[in-house]
Amino acid sequence: MGSKTSAKSGTWRNWGGNVQARPAREVAPASVEELSAAVRRAAEDGLKVKAVGTGHSFTSIAATDGVLIRPQLLTGIRTIDRDAMTVTVEAGTPLKRLNLALAREGLSLTNMGDIMEQTVSGATSTGTHGTGRESASIAAQIRGLELVTADGAVISCSATENPEVFAAARIGLGALGIVTAITFAVEPVFLLTAREEPMPLDRVLAEFDQLWAENEHFEFYWFPHTTGTTTKRNNRSAGPEQPVGRLAGWVEDELLSNGVFQVANWVGRAVPATVPAIARLSSRALSARTYTDIPYKVFTSPRRVRFVEMEYAVPRAALGDTLRELKTMLDRSGLRVSFPVEVRTAPADDIALSTASGRDSAYVAVHMFRGTPYQRYFTAAERIFTAHEGRPHWGKVHTRDAEYLAGVYPRFGEFSALRDRLDPQRLFQNDYLRRVLGA
Ligand SMILES: Cc1cc2nc3c(=O)[nH]c(=O)nc-3n(C[C@H](O)[C@H](O)[C@H](O)COP(=O)(O)OP(=O)(O)OC[C@H]3O[C@@H](n4cnc5c(N)ncnc54)[C@H](O)[C@@H]3O)c2cc1C
Repeated sequence: MGSKTSAKSGTWRNWGGNVQARPAREVAPASVEELSAAVRRAAEDGLKVKAVGTGHSFTSIAATDGVLIRPQLLTGIRTIDRDAMTVTVEAGTPLKRLNLALAREGLSLTNMGDIMEQTVSGATSTGTHGTGRESASIAAQIRGLELVTADGAVISCSATENPEVFAAARIGLGALGIVTAITFAVEPVFLLTAREEPMPLDRVLAEFDQLWAENEHFEFYWFPHTTGTTTKRNNRSAGPEQPVGRLAGWVEDELLSNGVFQVANWVGRAVPATVPAIARLSSRALSARTYTDIPYKVFTSPRRVRFVEMEYAVPRAALGDTLRELKTMLDRSGLRVSFPVEVRTAPADDIALSTASGRDSAYVAVHMFRGTPYQRYFTAAERIFTAHEGRPHWGKVHTRDAEYLAGVYPRFGEFSALRDRLDPQRLFQNDYLRRVLGA
């Protein structure tokens, strides 16, 4: 679990350690009826309501001083429908549990993000995504949703049932109701071959359109203070399965990516002047490798080194300019950044407040080691992202408000109108939603 409420102080903290809240009370409903009753009781007591997942958001989107609804008793698979090829899960189910259960049934989601600690409802509510040419975010794989609205009623939605709710609630930011169950499209489990390879940044940017077009899932990490990247291409494969060997996997994923990286970041935080040299070493530490495995083992890996992150989606055609401007800014700024910049893509989708809503997108994510001041870096990066009409990840640090967001989301008004209808009294309001959606 990422988030914790300390029993002594009653303070809730997120995974990144940059957000805290003091809820008036906490509940962990074990059924939709209990949840619905908790929502009604909060309204009677004049308290706001917020469901949390595992607190992996870096924004205060999950923070509340009202009633905090915990996910841990609303978990598990409800049904698997092999004709429709869907799975319906309780909203608090961790992605990890879903992925493992699906694999046991010979099934899989199509695409996913870098980790699988989050709950299905928390991950989809902020638009969590991986990288894909045709396949989009986790929320775009939703086929149906069940939610408890502000009056305690339970409603279902899909492309054919309450379609206007479905259009918005798949990425609902926790603003439209408490999600109780999600139906995802699934497919027979398949193999992906991952090819990881270092490549100079200039070449990646020059050949980006081709690298994107030739691969189902292309992404890369650029190491600030260096001209190097690590590229990763994941493509479906006929097999055979060739997992990363246990020792090689431990060396690459645990020792280098987590253990040594943690120590390197401690050194960099204590002595910032060492950061460029550490970055050069880090960029060379991971060598080329190829492996073939089932989707969640290829897409996700543990992230134990704690950080704070900002990520924006820009139009895919603007990626080259965005990265070149980011590099120039970093070269001139004197900033010392020990974490790589991560670049991914998504095709346009049809969800009102998806960062890829109606727009082919490239994601650029900047990170800072937890405990290192990040404001100056993120402010300078955000200036570049917003100049390209960037849309911030709802769960990652940003400073945008409703006025800006209405300008970059053509369907912002549609979402607001639905929110007015489903939550006229703003039971699900918090400070973050007031800022990004308006009062
Ligand atoms: C190490 C790390 C790696 C990450 N990797 C990626 C990545 O690869 N791609 C990516 O896009 N993002 C990534 N993220 C961001 C993360 O996926 C999102 O912030 C996600 O929303 C966190 O899910 P959670 O379960 O922790 O939800 P929380 O952060 O606890 O909550 C997020 C939102 O969901 C709402 N919510 C939760 N449950 C419900 C419910 N039942 N009904 C209604 N609303 C609900 C909350 O109110 C809140 O608004 C990463 C974050 C970390 C810390």
